Amino acid sequence: MGKQPPELPGDVALRRAVIETARAMSREGLSPGRSGNVSARVPGGMLITPSGLAYDGLGEADIVFVGEGGETLPGSLRPSSEWHLHHAIYAARPEIAAIVHCHSMDATALACAGKPIPAFHYMVTAGGGSDIRLAPYATFGTPELAAAVVAALDGRKAALLAHHGQVACGKDLAAAADLARDVETLAGQYLRTLQIGGGPLLSDDDMQRVLDQFRGYGQQ
Ligand code: 13P
Ligand code: ZN
Repeated sequence: MGKQPPELPGDVALRRAVIETARAMSREGLSPGRSGNVSARVPGGMLITPSGLAYDGLGEADIVFVGEGGETLPGSLRPSSEWHLHHAIYAARPEIAAIVHCHSMDATALACAGKPIPAFHYMVTAGGGSDIRLAPYATFGTPELAAAVVAALDGRKAALLAHHGQVACGKDLAAAADLARDVETLAGQYLRTLQIGGGPLLSDDDMQRVLDQFRGYGQQ
C-alpha cells in the first residue's frame, strides 16, 4: 500500500512495532473504526501512523516520518492528523519515546461527560500522579488541542481529551500501549463506581504512598 518514500529514516523494526501496536489497539477494541494513532520518537523526529487508513493493510513504508519542523519526506503518505499532538508531547517531554492515542469506549465516555479520573483507585497512579486529567476540548488535529493535552500531561503520562478520547505515553511502544489499556480499565471501573452512586476518594497522602511503593515494585 502507498508509494515507497525514497528513504526510510528510522529502523524498519520500529516501523513494524508501530504497526503491530496500532493493530493490537484495534484488535482489542480500543480504537473503534479508524480512530486513534500511534507514534515512536526517532532521531530528528517521529514515525507515525498514516491518516485515515485501516491498520490491517499497513506495511513498513506506509508509516510516516515527520521531522521536528513538521516536514515529511517526498512521496510519503499523509501523517496522522494528530501529528501536532504527538510532536508537541515529544518536544515538551524528553523522557517520552512513544505515544498511543485512541477513542477507547469507557475513557471516551468519561471524556464526553466532562469527567477526569480522580483518585478513586490506587492504580490511577499508573498515569504518573494522583489523577488522570481531562484536557479541555479543541478541534482534532489542531495545535490548540496539542497545547491543551501537553498542559494536562504535566507530571503525568496519560490524559483524557474532552469529547474525544485518551492519550497515553511511555518510554517505548509497549509501555504506551500498556498504559492506554490501564487507562481504559480504570475508566471502566470508575464508570461502574459512578453508576452505583460514586464513592470516597483516596487522599493525596495515600496516593503519594502508592507512588513511593511503586518505585520498588516488581522485578527491579
Ligand atoms: P488519523 O487517522 O488522522 O490519525 O485520525 C484519527 C484520530 O483519532 C483523530 O483524532
Ligand atoms: Zn482522535
